[in-house]
Amino acid sequence: MLLKGSCRCGAVRFEVESHTPVPFMLCYCSICRKQQGGGGFAINLGADSATLKITGKRNVGVYRAEIEDDERPLCEVSTGERNFCRKCGSALWLYDPTWPDLVHPFASAIDSELPKPPEKVHLMLKYKASWAEPVVGKNDKVFDVYPEESIADWHKRMGLWVE
Ligand SMILES: [Zn+2]
Repeated sequence: MLLKGSCRCGAVRFEVESHTPVPFMLCYCSICRKQQGGGGFAINLGADSATLKITGKRNVGVYRAEIEDDERPLCEVSTGERNFCRKCGSALWLYDPTWPDLVHPFASAIDSELPKPPEKVHLMLKYKASWAEPVVGKNDKVFDVYPEESIADWHKRMGLWVE
């Protein structure tokens, strides 16, 4: 499925092919929350990095967060590259060279109609803001840190993998 996305001001537009377009994975970590997740979480999709086409690339900034938490007691700079619009600040996608075949567009940046998730995964709840009260549906799964199942495996198990 072709996903089309953009920042709020239109200086950056992008499109990318995705087998895993269901916005089911809500991340409450401090980076996602501060950089992108106004509701206390951000939603990352999975897409095929080789197909990413960007218009207005000169307006794209990259942020690499410094991380220091229970999982990483020594402060380290995240390998994840959070791409955003330099003009309006919209968060656009995350790319991590550790997994070079993937790119993770933020659902909030996508203009295409996305499938509604039949159930959700809430992760990094250990790091959520105290005021954030996750709305956990009947079949939703919750995790203190990371789930064992990848975005791709979830789509396959749910029968929602898009060829
Ligand atoms: Zn913009």
